[in-house]
Amino acid sequence: MESYSEAQKHLARPYRKAVLRSLLAFTFGAGLLFFFLNLKNQNYPLAYAELGMAVYSAFIFRAISDTAHLERWILAFTLPFFTTMMFALISPRATSTVYAWVLLIPILSHLLMGRRLGLLISAFYMITAAVIFFFMHRNMPEMMQPLPIANMGIMSLTILAFSHIYEITREQSESRLLKMAQTDALTGLANRARLSDVFSSERKRSLRQGTPLSVLLLDLDHFKQVNDQHGHEAGDQALKHVSSILRDALRATDLATRLGGEEFALLLSDTSAEQALTVADKIRSNIETSPFHHQGQPINLTVSGGIAQFGPDGGDLRTLISRADQSLYHAKDTGRNTIVIAGTVPAPA
Ligand code: GH3
Ligand code: MG
Ligand code: MG
Repeated sequence: MESYSEAQKHLARPYRKAVLRSLLAFTFGAGLLFFFLNLKNQNYPLAYAELGMAVYSAFIFRAISDTAHLERWILAFTLPFFTTMMFALISPRATSTVYAWVLLIPILSHLLMGRRLGLLISAFYMITAAVIFFFMHRNMPEMMQPLPIANMGIMSLTILAFSHIYEITREQSESRLLKMAQTDALTGLANRARLSDVFSSERKRSLRQGTPLSVLLLDLDHFKQVNDQHGHEAGDQALKHVSSILRDALRATDLATRLGGEEFALLLSDTSAEQALTVADKIRSNIETSPFHHQGQPINLTVSGGIAQFGPDGGDLRTLISRADQSLYHAKDTGRNTIVIAGTVPAPA
């Protein structure tokens, strides 16, 4: 089953977009300012490069307003942006204070591209800047002193390290929060939010590879009686007991979720409705034959289920769950402790 990284990418998007937007606005203003300053300084190539970046940043500002490819636009902007910086460094008229800009590279790269790509891009441009520095200043003994070199080198490495460590811890805490937000607190199974995330990627996979995908809805039978006869705490323990049976019955590629109450939804990848029936019957029989023990007393549980297959029974999660739910009601109607496939139930008029 997919990791949280896809969902995390979505989560990072608004924040990266905000960072990119402010960088673009800043580049637009600073680009125009440096265009005039360099023009005055008669450094024409750099002046026009700055003007080019200002125009380009205005263009990208518009392009990202409703893009689905933010990651590409980030690269499309930062690579020319950093390259212009390198261009400024080799410009013979540039002052050595231009090197201060290089310190922006690790911060921006990590904020915009995450820890892996951020580190890679930072390392590439910072090494390039160092090579340019040594090449440009090789005949200036006052710059080739250990002290200024150590100052600049250590400062750059420190900012690189801080940006990288910050991004690692940010990503880790984001993924912890995401996991918490997508986990059912009582049973530790995934919840509906996670189901919806995983479904959207499994749906794409199923369409791409032509493999079947099924949803199995399970609802414990007469569960209210368990609470009424043994108490709510026993009911909670019974839900945990059922969850562990579900976990044990599934393959690593399947997802078991608690939709709420005593209702569970299982997403079975590479599984047709008929194959899902086999899985469901195994689970049904496991639940029936492994009673939950409360205060030394066995409590018998049974479950009813409905199955719907992606494609024949619907193209989105809501429809599939509602079709599986109809089958589930049918299973309840026909005496419970049974599983029904959607295709076998007449759709309501
Ligand atoms: P049916 O066979 O028709 O599904 O009967 P049922 O009693 O299982 O169904 P009903 O929907 O009437 O009742 C569901 C019960 O599940 C109600 C509530 O007492 C119990 N329940 C729902 N969520 C929880 C929970 O988090 N903990 C506990 N202990 N009980 C819960
Ligand atoms: Mg029930
Ligand atoms: Mg129910």
